[in-house]
Amino acid sequence: MRTAVGWEQHSVGVARLRESFAALPPGAPVRLAKRTSNLFRGRAGAGPGLDVSGLTGVIEVDGDVAEVQGMCTYEHLVEVTLRHGRIPLVVPQLRTITLGGAVTGLGIESTSFRNGLPHESVLEMDVLTGSGDVVTTKPGDALFDAFPNSYGSLGYASRLRIELERVPEYVALRHVRFDGADALAAAVSTIVEHRVWDGERVDGLDGVAFAPDELYLTLARWTDEPGPTSDYTGQEVFYRSLRRRTTDRLTVHDYLWRWDTDWFWCSAAFGAQHPVVRRLWPRRLRRSDVYWRLVALDRRWHVGDRLDRRAGRPQAERVVQDVEVPVDRLAEFLAWFDDEVGMRPVWLCPLALRRDDAERPWPTYPLTCGTTYVNVGFWGNVPVGPEAPSAPRNRAIEAKVDELGGHKSLYSEAFYARADFDRLYDGANLARVRAAHDPDGRMTDLFEKVVGGR
Ligand SMILES: Cc1cc2nc3c(=O)[nH]c(=O)nc-3n(C[C@H](O)[C@H](O)[C@H](O)COP(=O)(O)OP(=O)(O)OC[C@H]3O[C@@H](n4cnc5c(N)ncnc54)[C@H](O)[C@@H]3O)c2cc1C
Repeated sequence: MRTAVGWEQHSVGVARLRESFAALPPGAPVRLAKRTSNLFRGRAGAGPGLDVSGLTGVIEVDGDVAEVQGMCTYEHLVEVTLRHGRIPLVVPQLRTITLGGAVTGLGIESTSFRNGLPHESVLEMDVLTGSGDVVTTKPGDALFDAFPNSYGSLGYASRLRIELERVPEYVALRHVRFDGADALAAAVSTIVEHRVWDGERVDGLDGVAFAPDELYLTLARWTDEPGPTSDYTGQEVFYRSLRRRTTDRLTVHDYLWRWDTDWFWCSAAFGAQHPVVRRLWPRRLRRSDVYWRLVALDRRWHVGDRLDRRAGRPQAERVVQDVEVPVDRLAEFLAWFDDEVGMRPVWLCPLALRRDDAERPWPTYPLTCGTTYVNVGFWGNVPVGPEAPSAPRNRAIEAKVDELGGHKSLYSEAFYARADFDRLYDGANLARVRAAHDPDGRMTDLFEKVVGGR
């Protein structure tokens, strides 16, 4: 059972972090030495990294506030906060995403329609910058505001003070079917505005589009009412239940990790949803980090490409992306996506920024305050033929999302020209903040990380 580590142990972890920074060869780039990752693009060059092994826990929980170390996974964090009857305001779906990773890399989940993104419930954080200082920063500071979507290019968060919300033991679900994306988008707008659907409160909201005329919103309501609950860590697979059931009940714990067990639906690629394989696949290994390691092996040894070649199939392009489009352009985006990319299912997650000050949006990922967006997630391979290495579908998605007034997350591959990248992610502001906190350029610049694969 995990417990809070306390401040003394935190100081030891920070001292170890500082020592490892000081031990880096002069001028060497600064990198993390971290055991898990949910990044989907390649990273060049290993070299020595920062020792973050003492920064993986919860420091303390005090009512609706928690002090958390930067590399604490959400699985660990939630295990501790649930014992206090609380959870972070947004809990990304994958167990090994860390708090620091979600804040710098923009996590999202079904509470984002009312609680915004993970960085919007951070009250204060300590950041190890490229100058080797650990700086305490708050909302409104240039470093704090530029940090979300900076992917470690401005420094590494070692401690974050975050808000929590109370939760009961269970979640009641309704899976509501829509015959078209326009109707679903209209329902999203209504729920974001009123937080109610058909007279019932909505606490969590996400959805899946299986086909142009078969889309579902899953409406979650926190509840204390006792009763039977479903278990999707066994033989049943959560995403399939959306088409079979109109209502369901889960424990809060199981609701939070409902997508992790089968990495949304992506575990099918490893056979993990086949009844025979599933029975043999140990339950404790039905987790996104296990599938992630399998994907890493595939990428290393090009297993999929070899199989495609042997079977005479066209070369496939990997299209693993999450994009945000304004809710009133969702139907247009999905129709275009069907024509140009053709991948289903896709995950839908509505979000609206919590920050309501239009003068002070988050510059490195400048969504508009007061606008509802829908995050569209799609993760798979598209057969395109010999031009696959030049990533035509990924490039087309970047252009379309920009045309529709949306934004693309940067956890996966990106292909922007420098000028477009700087326009979309406020490169000028990033450069200013970097110059102030990292005058020798020890942290790799965001463009070089994301597009240059460094
Ligand atoms: C297939 C797929 C689906 C995804 N779906 C979702 C989703 O549905 N919801 C969601 O919320 N997210 C999703 N993500 C994205 C994920 O939240 C981000 O990639 C996040 O940054 C991963 O966090 P991590 O802790 O695993 O960090 P890592 O993968 O280890 O690192 C990610 C980046 O963050 C930097 N970083 C890590 N820790 C810190 C820190 N403490 N301070 C500063 N920088 C740091 C690293 O340098 C690196 O650039 C998905 C990713 C993938 C690959």
